[in-house]
Parts: sequence; C-alpha cells; structure tokens
Amino acid sequence: MNRIPIPLRCINQPRVGDRVVLWIALQPQREATFAGCPVPAQGRVLFGNVDRGRRDRAIRELLCQVCGQRLGGRAVLIVRPADVQHGYTAEPALHPECAAYAVRACPVLSGEKSHYRAHTAPVDRLEDEWAPAHDESARQGAPVEEYSSWLVETGQLRPAVSEDGELQGVKLGGIKPLRVRLVRHSTAFVEAAALLKTVFALFDGDGPESA
Ligand SMILES: [Zn+2]
Repeated sequence: MNRIPIPLRCINQPRVGDRVVLWIALQPQREATFAGCPVPAQGRVLFGNVDRGRRDRAIRELLCQVCGQRLGGRAVLIVRPADVQHGYTAEPALHPECAAYAVRACPVLSGEKSHYRAHTAPVDRLEDEWAPAHDESARQGAPVEEYSSWLVETGQLRPAVSEDGELQGVKLGGIKPLRVRLVRHSTAFVEAAALLKTVFALFDGDGPESA
C-alpha cells in the first residue's frame, strides 16, 4: 500500500507501522496492532481501544481525536445513519486535515475492510471502563455501515449527556453542517447489490421489472 501522508500536526505522534496512533486510542503496549486507526475494534470506526478519559476530554474541551490539539473554527464529525437516529455520535470531532488523513488511513473508512471485527478486542484493563456505543454488540461482525463526514462550525459542538449524567458523545441535534460528504457506502448495500445481480441472473439478464 502506498504510504499515506501524515498531517503536519501529527508528525510527533507515536505510530504503528506507518500509521499514526490516534490521540484518544490507547498507546501501544503489549498489543501494538490494536492501537489507533488501523483496527476498527468493536465496530467503532476510528476507535481502536479507546482511553475513555481522553475521549471525554476531547469532547468536553473540543480537542481533535486524532492529534489531541484544540479544534479550530471548523471541525469534522464522522457520522453514521444510526448516530443521526440516536441524536449523537460517540466520537469526538477532528480537524479537517486530520479527518482527511483518517479517511485514508482507517481501514473501515477507506473501504479496506468490509466487515467489522467479529469480536471485541481482547485484553485491556481499561476495557471495562469503556461504555459500549449504543449499538456496539449489533455491529460486531456485521457489514460496515455508511459513513459521512460533516464539516461543522466548532462553536456548534455540544456534549450529549444521558439522563443519568453519562457523557455519550457529541450532540447532532442543532448542528447545521456546512457540508456533508459520503465517505463510504455501506457494504450491506454492496451485498444487496450482489444479491440483486443474482436475482437478475435468474431472469436471464433482464431485471424483474422488465418481465
Ligand atoms: Zn487533529
């Protein structure tokens, strides 16, 4: 694979292979391969094993999840349809240039992987402290969903907090994105397309609608 250019602001961050370890990801210790973007652990796109404290800080203090530095006037949120439905994304925002990097370096976002990992990443004493995303168990081993990137005014970012005071993520309600871009299609859709092709083959190359 071609080397993916690293944003200047990430130049001093630890790496696994040629990829930057996300600031919110646990730093590589025993299980270097679990660190950072390359591993879509537990179906969370940019999350390897996540340091809950750093994730929460990033959301509350408006830090970028990739580099840990303060966001500028505009930021990017990576959003799935399920997030819109729930009204928040569990992931902190990113600098636009860090988002551009993540989209190329993260196997889920880049299209390198078509399915989430089937099992929760083993090991980690911090794992128990990490509250699962709203639909995490449903995502394990499932086809990758659709992802969009939302360019937003950083001033519109608000933490989403549950009724019992738990920090859930970044609120999506009330945000008016400046731009929305489809980052990747759902592979469930691709599988549906394959199925449709099979169905069409049954009709001798003609779609059912033309029968
Ligand atoms: Zn950044």
